[in-house]
Amino acid sequence: MTKPANPATEQDHKPSNFLRQIIENDLAQGTYASRRWAGSPGDAAHHAKGEPDPAKIRTRFPPEPNGYLHVGHAKSICINFGLAKEYGGVCHLRFDDTNPEKEDTEYVNSIIDAVKWLGFDWAQLGQAQGAAASQDCGAAPYQASDYFDFMYRAAEALIEAGHAYVDEQSAEDMRANRGDFGKPGVDSPFRTRTVEQNRTRFREMRDGKLADGAAVLRAKIDMASPNINLRDPAIYRIRRATHHHTGDTWCIYPMYTFAHPIEDALEQITHSICTLEFEDQRPFYDWLMERLCECKLLAAPSPKQYEFARLNLTYVITSKRKLAQLVNEGKVSGWDDPRMPTIVGLRRRGYTPTSLRLFADRIGVTKSDSWIDYSTLEGCLREDLENTAHRAMAVLDPVKLVLTNWDEVMGAGHLEPCTQPALPPAPQGASQGPEEGSVPTRHFKIGKEVWIERDDFLEEPPKGYKRLYPPRAGADGQMLPGNKVRLKGGYVIECTGCTKDANGVISEVQATVIPDTKSGTPGSATVKASAAITWVGVSDGLQAEVRLYDRLFADAQPDAGGKDFLAALNPDSLKVVTAYVEPSLANVPAGAHFQFERHGYFVTDRVDHAGGKLVFNKITGLKDSWAK
Ligand code: ATP
Ligand code: MG
Repeated sequence: MTKPANPATEQDHKPSNFLRQIIENDLAQGTYASRRWAGSPGDAAHHAKGEPDPAKIRTRFPPEPNGYLHVGHAKSICINFGLAKEYGGVCHLRFDDTNPEKEDTEYVNSIIDAVKWLGFDWAQLGQAQGAAASQDCGAAPYQASDYFDFMYRAAEALIEAGHAYVDEQSAEDMRANRGDFGKPGVDSPFRTRTVEQNRTRFREMRDGKLADGAAVLRAKIDMASPNINLRDPAIYRIRRATHHHTGDTWCIYPMYTFAHPIEDALEQITHSICTLEFEDQRPFYDWLMERLCECKLLAAPSPKQYEFARLNLTYVITSKRKLAQLVNEGKVSGWDDPRMPTIVGLRRRGYTPTSLRLFADRIGVTKSDSWIDYSTLEGCLREDLENTAHRAMAVLDPVKLVLTNWDEVMGAGHLEPCTQPALPPAPQGASQGPEEGSVPTRHFKIGKEVWIERDDFLEEPPKGYKRLYPPRAGADGQMLPGNKVRLKGGYVIECTGCTKDANGVISEVQATVIPDTKSGTPGSATVKASAAITWVGVSDGLQAEVRLYDRLFADAQPDAGGKDFLAALNPDSLKVVTAYVEPSLANVPAGAHFQFERHGYFVTDRVDHAGGKLVFNKITGLKDSWAK
C-alpha cells in the first residue's frame, strides 16, 4: 500500500531547456499577448469575437487514435502538459483523426485514460503567473475531424489565391517529376490550370466524381526547392472510406502536413511541439500559416512548430506497428501485458504516474537523438516508491524451516505475535519520509514452522556466507555450531541441519529458537546473529502467485538497423512462482504497491488480483541487476 504521493520526489525546480527558453522569451516579448480565445476552436472571425486569451500559452498533444500510447508518448504528454501547466497555459488533447482508415474509439478512450492517469487535465489552466487556481478553459478533448469543413474552406481559399491546383498525373509520374535531393522537380502539366478549372475540379473531387487516387490537390510552391517537402506537396486526396466520426460525409481527406498546422491554428496553439522527423516540414507549416493569415481565414499570430528528439529507450520498442505484432503473434498477453512499454502495460507492471513524470523531467528535452538506458526509468520508480511503498515479507522460493525446540521452550502449538512498521524510519535529518505515528504496524505470528528462501540455507557455505548453515567440523576437527541468524522481526535461531528428499533436494531445514531474543525486547541484543533473513509463518502465511517479470528483450536495441526484434525476445522475461506472503497482505486492493524486503518492488495485478486470489507483479529489483 502506498501513502499519498510524496511531492518532494518531483523536483520543484526543473532544469531549463530550449523549449522553456523559447516560451520564456515569448512571454517576455509578449509574442502571443494579443491573442483572443472565443472559448472553442475556430477561424479568425470566431476568435475576434472572443476575450483576450486567459491562457498564456497553448500547447497540444495530438495522438492519432490508431493504437495504445507508449512510453515515448508519455514523454510527449509530460512535455506538452507540463509546459502548459508551468507557464499558466493550457494543453489541448486533440485526436488527430484525419486518416479515416485506422482509427477506433477503443483507442480514443485508452488515450483519455492515459492522459488522466499521468495526472494531466486538458481543461485546466496552469497555475503559474498568478492565474486563478482552477480556471476552467472549457477545452474538451478536440478532434481534428471536426475541422474538416474548415480545411475544405482553406483549400478553396488557396485555390482562389492561386496557391493550389488539382493534379491528375499518374502516381508514378508525380513521383518521378518530384525529383530528388540532387535533381530539381519538373512542373506538372496541370500546374497551369486556372483558378476556375481548379475550383471546378476540386469540387468534383469532393462530390465523388473522380475515382480514388485519380487526382490530388497540391499546394503550388516551388518544384525546384532544395526542400523536397516544398515541391508542391499534396494537401488533399480522394479516399472512399468510412470515417469513425464523420462517416461517409467526405470522400476526400486532407493530408497530415496540411491538416496539422490548421488544427493548431484553429485551436490558437502557440507552441506546437513535435518530434524531430517533422523538422523538414516546418517550412511548409510556416508557408501555409502565412497564406491562410493573408486571406484572413486564420487569426495571427500563427502557431510555431518546435522539434525535440524522440525517446529511444534501451530494451524497448516504441513502434506501434511492432508492438501490435507482439500482441497479434501472442508474444505477450495483450496491450497491457506488464512487459509492454505501453502506458497500460507500464501501469499494470506497477509504474506510477509520479515515476513517469520524474523520468520525463530527468531525461529532459534535447534536439539530438540519443538512447536512454532502461535503468533510468527503473531508478525513477525506486525513487518514488522508496519512501512510500509499504514493506512486507514474502518468500518467493520457499523451503520449510522447523524450529525443533519450539514446543519445548515456547509451549506446544504456541504462536507468538510479532510486529514491524510498514515503513522504515526516515533517515536522520531527512525532510521526507513518514511522520511520527503515521506509519501503520504490520502484524504476523511466528510458530514452530516458517517459510524461508531456499537460498538462505546452504549445507556447505562458501567463505563469507552469513545466512543459515549447519554445524560443521573446524580445522582442528572440533565440531562448530550451526550459524545464527535473526528471523526478521522474530527471534534469533541456530541452524542444526536439514532433510533431503530422494532426489537429494532439501525438503526441510532445522534450527533451534533462542528464547528471549525476540526483536524489540531487551534480550534481543544478547545473542549476536550474523544476518537477518526474511520469512513468513506457516500458520498465517498466505499463498500468492508472483509474476517475476524481466525485460522483454535481451538486446539493448532490439530493432535497430532493421534487426529482427522477435529474435531478441528474452526467453526469461516471465517466471511465475507460488510464494508465501505475510498476512498483512490479506485484503489489499488491486494496483497496490509494496516493497518485498530484500526482493524489490511489487504491485498487485490490476487484472487478475481479486477476492481471495493474491497476484503480485514484480516491478523491479531493489538495485539495478542489469548493471555491468
Ligand atoms: P506511429 O508509431 O504510428 O508512427 P506516432 O509515434 O507518430 O505513431 P502519434 O499518435 O502520431 O504516434 O503521436 C502523438 C505524439 O507523440 C506526437 O506528437 C509524437 O511526436 C509523440 N511521440 C510519439 N512517439 C514518441 C517518442 N518515442 N518520443 C517522444 N514523443 C513521441
Ligand atoms: Mg504519427
